[in-house]
Amino acid sequence: MEKLIFRFNNQSSQSFFKNKDLLGGKGANLVKMTKLGLPVPPGFTISTKVCEYFYKNNKKIPKKVIQQVKKEINIIEKITKKKFGSLSNPLLVSVRSGAKVSMPGMMDTILNLGLNDKTVIALKKRTSNGRFAKDSYRRFIQMYGNVVLKIESYFFEELIENYKLTKGVIQDIELTEEDWDGLIQNFKDVIKEKTKKNFPQEVNEQLWGAIGAVFLSWNSKRAKTYRKINYIPDHWGTAVNVQAMVFGNMGENCATGVAFTRNPSTGEKKLFGEYLINAQGEDVVAGTRTPQDLLSMNKSMPVIFQQLKKIFKLLERKYKDMQDIEFTVENNKLWMLQTRSGKRTARASIKIAVDMVQEKLISNKEAILRIDANTLDTLLHPTLDEKAEKKIIASGLPASPGAASGKVTFSANEAERLKEQMQDTILVRIETSPEDINGMHAAKGILTARGGMTSHAAVVARGMGKPCVSGSSEIKIDYEKKIFRSGEYQIKEGDIITIDGGSGKVMLGEVRTVKPDISKDFSKLMNWADQYRKLKIRTNSETPADTKIARDFGAEGIGLCRTEHMFFDGERIISVREMILSKTLDDRKEALTKLLPYQRNDFIKIFKIMNGLPVTVRLLDPPLHEFLPKTEKDVEDIAKELNISNKNVKSRIIELHEQNPMLGHRGCRLGISFPEIYQMQCQAIFEALAECKKKKIKPVIPEIMIPLVSTAAEIQILRNLVVKTAEEIQKIHSIKIQYYVGTMIELPRAALRANDIAKYADFFSFGTNDLTQTTFGISRDDSGKFLNDYVENKIFNKDPFVSIDERGVGELIKIATERGRIQKKSLKLGICGEHGGDPSSIEFCEKAKLNYVSCSPYRVPIARLAAAQAYLKKNKKYK
Ligand code: PEP
Ligand code: MG
Repeated sequence: MEKLIFRFNNQSSQSFFKNKDLLGGKGANLVKMTKLGLPVPPGFTISTKVCEYFYKNNKKIPKKVIQQVKKEINIIEKITKKKFGSLSNPLLVSVRSGAKVSMPGMMDTILNLGLNDKTVIALKKRTSNGRFAKDSYRRFIQMYGNVVLKIESYFFEELIENYKLTKGVIQDIELTEEDWDGLIQNFKDVIKEKTKKNFPQEVNEQLWGAIGAVFLSWNSKRAKTYRKINYIPDHWGTAVNVQAMVFGNMGENCATGVAFTRNPSTGEKKLFGEYLINAQGEDVVAGTRTPQDLLSMNKSMPVIFQQLKKIFKLLERKYKDMQDIEFTVENNKLWMLQTRSGKRTARASIKIAVDMVQEKLISNKEAILRIDANTLDTLLHPTLDEKAEKKIIASGLPASPGAASGKVTFSANEAERLKEQMQDTILVRIETSPEDINGMHAAKGILTARGGMTSHAAVVARGMGKPCVSGSSEIKIDYEKKIFRSGEYQIKEGDIITIDGGSGKVMLGEVRTVKPDISKDFSKLMNWADQYRKLKIRTNSETPADTKIARDFGAEGIGLCRTEHMFFDGERIISVREMILSKTLDDRKEALTKLLPYQRNDFIKIFKIMNGLPVTVRLLDPPLHEFLPKTEKDVEDIAKELNISNKNVKSRIIELHEQNPMLGHRGCRLGISFPEIYQMQCQAIFEALAECKKKKIKPVIPEIMIPLVSTAAEIQILRNLVVKTAEEIQKIHSIKIQYYVGTMIELPRAALRANDIAKYADFFSFGTNDLTQTTFGISRDDSGKFLNDYVENKIFNKDPFVSIDERGVGELIKIATERGRIQKKSLKLGICGEHGGDPSSIEFCEKAKLNYVSCSPYRVPIARLAAAQAYLKKNKKYK
């Protein structure tokens, strides 16, 4: 019979401790901790299979599971010597979600379940602590009311806040047993009013209500949003963990805390965490009381602190990773409630991986495989310029590093709305809750007035790699008026602020940023990656500045120099427009003569920086509309230059208008119609080489690339043009020039006819932007309007312009690779579409046996790492 319930301390469950698919992460780790002999309160996990059944069977739980749960509760009763619903020594349980991967705060949890009007009295007697018993009961009603009965939590919170105001106290801890008695009655009244039913007193009804609610929370809006952002499949479902409660809120020798075995912000090997004496778990993260630094526990609870340190070490040794832990101390006894791999910043993840290699916990291959290559992005982007003028208006905790500027917005939905308009925002909240997840994702950074380093805002921002300043108590937010005040400053919605998540500072306006300092650990990791990867990494770059950045990041060549981008610079755009608008060959030649020196000089600069490394120069490939004069002033300028009337310019623009410029007179079609354009560009390349030779600059072997080829005849004709131009320049300068001629494969026909095309090409570079556009027949410029619907309806897993569609576009790449290499063994193959910087597409390129990937400069390190990961995964070298 299929096993659906897993008792933590049962031998047969313990063989499943690695099976997170079935037990969820939390359940699997509770089983493992129990197996390691750690103090874990007894309990069991209801597997994800039951969740699957629940959704397939009209939200019912199988009978078999109901019976087994009863049995398991009996076993907890035996171990704890308490009884569920007992009027003398009641057992209380927690009911928690736990999916295969951690989704912090996205699903529901219920604590103190098993309390009712009678058991609460028993608990009071048993513990001789009336305040504790009542506090636990009101928490339970509050949680149950919210999670199971769906009553907004602010109905309860408001009652507490108003009561405290009347009583003239600030902290919950100042409320007495009698105070809670009154509030419990108020809470029950709210429930009666909202649900027309009394708060359930029967403990089994409570239990099944809670289990059902946890399953339902898998499909809550926030859980769905989180899954969408993190590409977590909807069919996984959650497990449910039912566990005996232990109490951190029974008095001064009780506590509750969360800890990371290393610093999740910096990676430093130092305990990091927060705890609260006399409190329950959610108090630490909720930000209602300011928690204490875990290190101070060495003084307040020294024995427990030493015990914790030992456990942290053991867990790190067993899991070989930094752990995020929840614990509770009940009457000086330590209980472990959770361990999981801790979320961390990119910087921390590199430091931890590199340190763990040095500590011989993991191999350097494991270190490489551990880093999410995409997150490197956050490290490579600029940080605040120290020299820039800053007007600091507030400060808080440095919860997640990096700098961000944007318009102040106070609501998650507004942040999302502004993102759609391409506007940068900083989401400012008193504290964030899982409901804010969409806005946190949309905003550039997050600022909160309340909450510590382990608050929701801090944890989620670190996971997302977003800057966050939390707990900035100086700022006073007024959601209604849409302002916040900090000292003498008043900031309105829409005002621009900058936050620095590394220092915790909040600044007025936009502050200048600088290139980040790359750490030694980062370089070490990159060197390891370079040892293992087979794919070469090139960059897409056409300016000396970008080329220099890319070289510094380790680019081994230029895979795509888009020459049309060079044409936008400064004055030369006028000559470019002149060339495009020319009606006669002579006019065009005249414009080209003006452009030649610009191009030659650009190439000299780039060749110099590349110092002998390969450079792929793509000949002109503009969809013409990109270059046509756009404004009245553009028209005037060009009319003056050509010495014709504005009207004439306008009528030429109309003549050149295309319905579908992406499929129009672009790419090699231009070269076929106007060979003098490509001739000029080749002349510029070869003359630049001659000049470099004269200046003794290390020679580059250029790879001249013809865009948008679909037939062998096109490349045959244009190759001849390149060869002829080279011969002329060689003769004039009496030099020997080495070069290659190749093509982009960016049209399906080119991929299919790769064997013919390879006859005239020394290399292929897959232009996956256009290849995706033309394979799907989806315009790359207009897809934004509907792609989201496609992802939402699960037609696409991911945007195919971001990650290669392996089954369609990928198939064409494989066909072209195979056919091209049959024709020409030496054919060099690479990719230069945006996919060249996307880790999962890079994995595909490794499998497809390409020679290189080319990506934008800032993605070069990402590609280096992703290429190593792809190689290690392909060859199953995990250790
Ligand atoms: C491509 O199509 O993938 C490509 C690299 O060229 P562009 O984006 O310039 O069209
Ligand atoms: Mg293209």
